[in-house]
Amino acid sequence: MRKNIVAGNWKMNLDYEQGLSLFSEIVNMVKDEVRGGQEVVVCSPFIHLASLSKLGASAPHVSIGAQNISQEPSGAFTGEISATQVKSTGASYVILGHSERRAYFGETDELLAKKVDAALAHDLFPIFCIGETKEERESGAFYDVIKRQLTKALFHLDAAAFGKIVLAYEPVWAIGTGLTATPEQAQEVHAFIRQTLAEQYGQEVADNCSILYGGSANPSNAQSLFSQPDIDGGLIGGASLKSRDFLQIINVFN
Ligand code: 13P
Repeated sequence: MRKNIVAGNWKMNLDYEQGLSLFSEIVNMVKDEVRGGQEVVVCSPFIHLASLSKLGASAPHVSIGAQNISQEPSGAFTGEISATQVKSTGASYVILGHSERRAYFGETDELLAKKVDAALAHDLFPIFCIGETKEERESGAFYDVIKRQLTKALFHLDAAAFGKIVLAYEPVWAIGTGLTATPEQAQEVHAFIRQTLAEQYGQEVADNCSILYGGSANPSNAQSLFSQPDIDGGLIGGASLKSRDFLQIINVFN
């Protein structure tokens, strides 16, 4: 059966010392608290990864992830970081397809398909983000958008690959805005995502895939979101930068 996961996306926040300090707090707080079998993932800037991996070695429920990788394996790509390099830090996840990368760095579905391949080839689990903009929600086109994002970036994969992929539904209009999707709105889209997976790969693959919700999730709304049948946890931005808030969200699954 699928896993419940609470993942933090620190985005481009925290200097090196601040990152280590927040992560140490998280590790100490979750040590005795993770009772529901949920997995905690912290996706930090690249500079923290190797140190967090060492600090997290004593915390079996806590994994580390990056927020991006290059689609290229190695070579003359100044400033880029490869999947192998991320893997060598001890990280096991990578966020791909985040709407900020799509919007500000021009990442297309086609490029993301290559990044997903690079991640899987080097044993990194992609946390693959999909979601519609405000305009796409209002025009009613959001189901088409989500289906396109899934199809173009992921549906070249075989069914076995889905054992290693986590999906995150992040409506762009809910990210960092304080406007959370209602649990019903989120559930509706999560069910659609699972249905789309089932049509392509069969019900078993769909049922085993964790689908996280992201977008202004916080300690006050996490319970009602995570209690929906197709919501298997969250990808948390702002609230993951505060150890107490993050812990409260993690504890929803206890
Ligand atoms: P917020 O939780 O800050 O809205 O960010 C969500 C997000 O983008 C996580 O990837």
